[in-house]
Amino acid sequence: MMRLPKLAVSSPETIEEATGLLAELGDRAVVLSGGTDLIPNLKRHQLTVDTVVLLGRIDDLRGIRADGESIHIGARTTLREIVDSELVPPVVARAAGQVASPTIQNQGTIGGNLCVDTRCFWLNVTDLWRQAAEPCLKADGDTCWVAPAKQHCWAVSSSDLAPVLVALDASITLVGSGGTRTIPLADLYVDDGIAYLTKASEEIITSVAIPIDPGLDTTYHKLRRRGSVDFPILGVAAAIRRGDAGVCTEARIILGAVASAPLRAPEAEEALVGQPLGPDSIAAAAEAARKLARPLYNTDLTSRYRKRMVPVFVKRALEELAAG
Ligand SMILES: Cc1cc2nc3c(=O)[nH]c(=O)nc-3n(C[C@H](O)[C@H](O)[C@H](O)COP(=O)(O)OP(=O)(O)OC[C@H]3O[C@@H](n4cnc5c(N)ncnc54)[C@H](O)[C@@H]3O)c2cc1C
Repeated sequence: MMRLPKLAVSSPETIEEATGLLAELGDRAVVLSGGTDLIPNLKRHQLTVDTVVLLGRIDDLRGIRADGESIHIGARTTLREIVDSELVPPVVARAAGQVASPTIQNQGTIGGNLCVDTRCFWLNVTDLWRQAAEPCLKADGDTCWVAPAKQHCWAVSSSDLAPVLVALDASITLVGSGGTRTIPLADLYVDDGIAYLTKASEEIITSVAIPIDPGLDTTYHKLRRRGSVDFPILGVAAAIRRGDAGVCTEARIILGAVASAPLRAPEAEEALVGQPLGPDSIAAAAEAARKLARPLYNTDLTSRYRKRMVPVFVKRALEELAAG
């Protein structure tokens, strides 16, 4: 049985108290929301901290509300609350409902989902197993065992909600000791398996805002080995706006789980804009996404298979939108 290391636990009641603690403790502390990602990672000794700062008692971080322009979701809102909400866009509820399993959705939160650690099968193993080889780059070693020639960590972005919310042009509000700022969600991510978030470690996501945009047609398709529990090994989020005669005026195609950040596919989007959403434009977009995506052999199923699935899943997503 894997055990948690010895940790101090703080349970602040306000956002200010939490950010104060995080600023004071620096890299020694980490935020725990639902704990469904963090606790297994702590048990596997993937990170070394001596304190966890629980967000569970901060009521201001919960709830879903609409203000006419956007839907605001508190960072501590659970995935299950999102699945059951009538306020959130259906594509968000659908993606939340595909995370892990119902039990984990009851516990896991949107803030944790957006910050979920990048994954790699050289890393997500027990300490003992990791010690059998030289530790990988993300485990403070010198080599990335996925692509040893490069000093870069390729661990995979594994959030289901991130590609969907980037496609919806969502923004997040962050609070730290330096104050409050709101940024596009896309700007939270960096294509680097180690430093995969731009936020300071002492900053807390307090809420997510999704623009209310009834003209945008959206969908999300996820590839995983089993129909439940498994992380995505490919996710395709598509958002399309159509004008007169069904011509596409705006497109966002975001690929999940093929890089260390949600990957925007601009050439796939260009293949759609100015065209009706039909077989030719869909085939061109699917091919452009295939060329862009370079999944590596670092998560479930082979990289070759995952690459071959990229155009298949882009096509499926766009055909669903074309069928209306
Ligand atoms: C068996 C299993 C299957 C899973 N399958 C999936 C899947 O299919 N898809 C998927 O997307 N995820 C999956 N997960 C991961 C996880 O359950 C979800 O992503 C969940 O939403 C994480 O939320 P949490 O609140 O539990 O995060 P936590 O574990 O509490 O935190 C995760 C990370 O986010 C940080 N964090 C949390 N909240 C905040 C905040 N408000 N501000 C700043 N940082 C914060 C934490 O410090 C930590 O680094 C799976 C996990 C397990 C164990």
